[in-house]
Amino acid sequence: MKQTLRKIAVAALGAGLLAACGGGGDGTPQGGPPFTVSADGSSAFAAAALGSTLAALPVEALSAAEAASLAYMREEEKLAYDVYSRLDAMWGRQLPIFANIAQSEATHTEAVRQLLVRYTLTDPAANLSAGLFTVPVLQQLYHDLVAQGATSLIAALQVGATIEEIDIVDLETALPTIDNQDIRLVYGNLLKGSRNHLRAFVQALAQQGVTYTPAYLTTDTYSAIVTTAFER
Ligand code: MN
Ligand code: MN
Repeated sequence: MKQTLRKIAVAALGAGLLAACGGGGDGTPQGGPPFTVSADGSSAFAAAALGSTLAALPVEALSAAEAASLAYMREEEKLAYDVYSRLDAMWGRQLPIFANIAQSEATHTEAVRQLLVRYTLTDPAANLSAGLFTVPVLQQLYHDLVAQGATSLIAALQVGATIEEIDIVDLETALPTIDNQDIRLVYGNLLKGSRNHLRAFVQALAQQGVTYTPAYLTTDTYSAIVTTAFER
C-alpha cells in the first residue's frame, strides 16, 4: 500500500485547487477558506466558503464509482455525527470532545449532500432519522459502536478513534477511483478532518492514561498521523 504517497498527492491536489479558485491573496477563495481547523482539532467546512469554492469548479461527468461513493460517504459521515451526538448525550458532562467533533461531522455530511445536489443524485439520507441508515454495514456499526461507547468514557473515546480510522480507510480506498475536482476537494478535506479527529481522540485517551491501538490502519500509517500535529 502506498497510502503515504497517495495522501501527499491528495494534499497537493487540494492545495492547487484552492490556489486556482482566486479570491484572497493567500490563495483562499472569497469568504475565507472552505475548511477550518480549531485549536482542539475539530475540522469543519464553512458552508458559504465551500459553496463559492465548489461554484468555481466544473461539474464534470460522473462515473458510477463516483456516484456510489458519494451516496456511501453521505451516510458514513452521518454515522460519525449520529454516534458522536449519542456519545455526547452520555459523556458530554465529562468532556466536550464529542459535541465539538459532532458539530464538525454535521458539516462533513452536509458537504457530501451538497455534492449530491450538484450532480442531481438522490440523497439516501434525506428521510433518515438519527441512528438510521440504508447501508446495512453502517447500520450495524451504529448499533455496535453506540453500545460499546455506552460502557465507559474511555470506551466512548475508543469508539471515536475507531470511526475516524474507518473513515480514513474508506476515503483512501475511494480516492483512486475519483477524478472530479470538486469531489476530490471535499474528500481531501474530509480526510484531513478525520486525521485531525483521530489525533484528538487519541490525545484524549492519552489524557485518560490509555494508549490507543489501531484496528483498521496499518501501524505505519497510524503512527505517521498521531505523531504529527493537527493539520491546518
Ligand atoms: Mn468526518
Ligand atoms: Mn471525524
